[in-house]
Amino acid sequence: MSTFTPTARTQVKRLPKRGAYDRETVFKILDEAFVCHVGFAVDGQPYVIPTNFGRRGETLYLHGSAASRMLRTLAEGVPVCVTVTLTDGLVLARSAFHHSVNYRSVVVLGKARLVEDPAEKMEALRLFTEHVMKGRWEEIRWPVEQELKATTVLALPLEEVSAKVRTGGPIDDEEDYALPVWAGVLPLSVVAAEPVADARLKAGTEIPGYMKHYRRG
Ligand SMILES: Cc1cc2nc3c(=O)[nH]c(=O)nc-3n(C[C@H](O)[C@H](O)[C@H](O)COP(=O)(O)OP(=O)(O)OC[C@H]3O[C@@H](n4cnc5c(N)ncnc54)[C@H](O)[C@@H]3O)c2cc1C
Repeated sequence: MSTFTPTARTQVKRLPKRGAYDRETVFKILDEAFVCHVGFAVDGQPYVIPTNFGRRGETLYLHGSAASRMLRTLAEGVPVCVTVTLTDGLVLARSAFHHSVNYRSVVVLGKARLVEDPAEKMEALRLFTEHVMKGRWEEIRWPVEQELKATTVLALPLEEVSAKVRTGGPIDDEEDYALPVWAGVLPLSVVAAEPVADARLKAGTEIPGYMKHYRRG
């Protein structure tokens, strides 16, 4: 099926026409972003922790230090909410009330499982690296056993998923269009600046080609 089925929990309520459940939209957002926010509760206290992620097909991978509370908690199978947000523009209206943001976001609900199979774990680590910087994995030293031991990898199935997308300009109240106030959209995007070489870079090491035109999406 090319569309996630909305559930009572993933049904976008406000401005439901901005909701999207098709895999194409969801995967495009997940693949363009590289930061997600992971929400979970410990003793009734919600925590929302920013982290990196990777995706393969219908699985989102999270990773981190084996000592991380987030990963230890999620490995127990507690309910988790992962949110990914891309900000595409600032929407400047004529009134304060109608200011907005153009965005694409995804919310994933579910329970994560601990990845124990060494091959899946290594593949997830490859996915994280490639998700942030495509082409990098083949050049770098891969994790050794002791580094793998120090790393926890979790897999979250993409089953209960929603996306929400806002595009376009401001929508003002009719009488406000006469106001002499600039209105429109200030587009935003991720732009890489000049790379800064590490002070201990081996002499003669060139900047990899994949960094020269780095962009997301
Ligand atoms: C950058 C950004 C800025 C925003 N600013 C505001 C703001 O200032 N005020 C405000 O009220 N809203 C803002 N939103 C929208 C906000 O994310 C919610 O969509 C909104 O609060 C409406 O929630 P609700 O009550 O309809 O749904 P809820 O009852 O909160 O959510 C029901 C279900 O709808 C789905 N859902 C809701 N929102 C999203 C989403 N954004 N992406 C994917 N799935 C979603 C989830 O599956 C959720 O479980 C912003 C969104 C983004 C990405």
